[in-house]
Amino acid sequence: MQFDRAGYKVPMLPHVRIRNTVANGLEMTPVGRLCRWTASRLFGGFILAFHRSSGRALTEQVEALRPSRVIALDEMVSRLKSGRSTSGLLAITVDDGYAATVEEYCQIARERQWPMTFYLPTAYLERGSLPFLMIANLQRVCPPTEVRLGGRDFCLVSEKARTEFFAGLIQRMYTAREADYMPLVEGLASHLIDNGLVPESSVYDVEPPVAWADVERWAREPTVSFQSHGVSHQAVVSLQADELHDELVRSKEVIEEHTNNPVAHFCYPYGGPESIGQNAPKIVSEVFSSSVTMSRGRLRGSDPFLLPRVPLYEQDTGNVACLKVLTA
Ligand SMILES: [Zn+2]
Repeated sequence: MQFDRAGYKVPMLPHVRIRNTVANGLEMTPVGRLCRWTASRLFGGFILAFHRSSGRALTEQVEALRPSRVIALDEMVSRLKSGRSTSGLLAITVDDGYAATVEEYCQIARERQWPMTFYLPTAYLERGSLPFLMIANLQRVCPPTEVRLGGRDFCLVSEKARTEFFAGLIQRMYTAREADYMPLVEGLASHLIDNGLVPESSVYDVEPPVAWADVERWAREPTVSFQSHGVSHQAVVSLQADELHDELVRSKEVIEEHTNNPVAHFCYPYGGPESIGQNAPKIVSEVFSSSVTMSRGRLRGSDPFLLPRVPLYEQDTGNVACLKVLTA
C-alpha cells in the first residue's frame, strides 16, 4: 500500500508492483550497480518532470540517481545546443505551480543547491483554477445521474458510463480548445450543484497556485527559475498560430515582470504529441530557447523545441526512478 501526499492510501497497481520488484532486484546485484553507473555515464543527460509529489519523494529520487549531477535547465539546453556532452547530468523541472509544491521544492533547491525550473501557467496564478483541475474534481465526486448538456442527454448512471464520459472529456481537453469542452463541464457542475447532488466546494475548490508574491520572493534565490507554461494551459494544437504566439509572449512578459529574470523556456500543456501538433515547435522557437514535452526519453541529439523528459511521481521509489531513467 502506498500513500499520496495527503496521506490517503493508494492501491498499488500490478504493473507498479512488478516494476518495483524489478527495480529492487536491480539495486541488489552488482549488475544493477553497473547498470546505474553506465546509465549515468554513457547515455545523454536527462530532464526530470515533477508535478505535485512531496519533497521527500523528490529528494529520494534525485539522490538515487547519483552519480548523475543536478544542473540548471538553462545550462542543459545550452550544452545541448552547442553540442557539448550532457552525460552524467540531470535537470529538475516542475510543472503547473502548485503553491505547496513550489514552496517545499524551493526550500530543497536552496538547501541542497539543486537548480530547479518551475513552469507557470499564468492564468492559474491569476484565476486560482484551471479547467483540468475542475474536471478532476468532477470526476472524483460525480454521482450516478442523468443530465442534458448542450442539447444532448447523458445517462451517467453506471460507473462505466461515467468513466467513458470523463475519458471522452479528457481526450477533448488534450486536443481541443477550452470553449469546446468547458460548456459541458460547467453544465455538469451546475446540474450537480443545483440539484444538491454535490456541494459547490467539491467542484470548485482546487489546490491553490503559488502566489505572485512568493514567485517574486523565490525568484531572488539563484537555484530557482520560473519559466513559461503558457497562459491558459490549453493544448497548443488547438490554438491558431497568432493566438499561440500571443499566449507565449504574454506569459513570458508577465513572468519576467514579476521575477526580473529572463524567461527563455516553455513547457507544452499536457505535453503529448497529440496536444502539441506539427506547427507549435516553430512558433515556440520564435519566442523561447527551448520547450519540453511529456514524452519519455533522454537528451540524445534531441530537438530543443521537443525535449523529452522523465516524469517521476510520488509512488516512484529511488530504484524505480533509476529504472525509468535507464529505460528512457
Ligand atoms: Zn501542466
